[in-house]
Amino acid sequence: MAEKYAISALLTSSCYRCSSDSGDPAKFIKCCLCNRWAHTKCVNLVGIKSENICNVRYLCDVCFTEVSALKKFINDVEEFKSDL
Ligand SMILES: [Zn+2]
Ligand SMILES: [Zn+2]
Repeated sequence: MAEKYAISALLTSSCYRCSSDSGDPAKFIKCCLCNRWAHTKCVNLVGIKSENICNVRYLCDVCFTEVSALKKFINDVEEFKSDL
């Protein structure tokens, strides 16, 4: 069941924030890590020009949180190393 849901979530282009797939497809942005889609307006990127959207490396909140945690982890490891 969970697997089926994951696959259908992958195939849909609805916004992960508001769960709606309505609106201009050019106003959607894709997370470059997990490939989830969001309306630019739902992720506060309204100012972005639609022709630039595909060039923007967008990270959704989930990935952003994970990347931040990873960065902190790497920093901690580096600090630990420099203390040796
Ligand atoms: Zn949305
Ligand atoms: Zn993501």
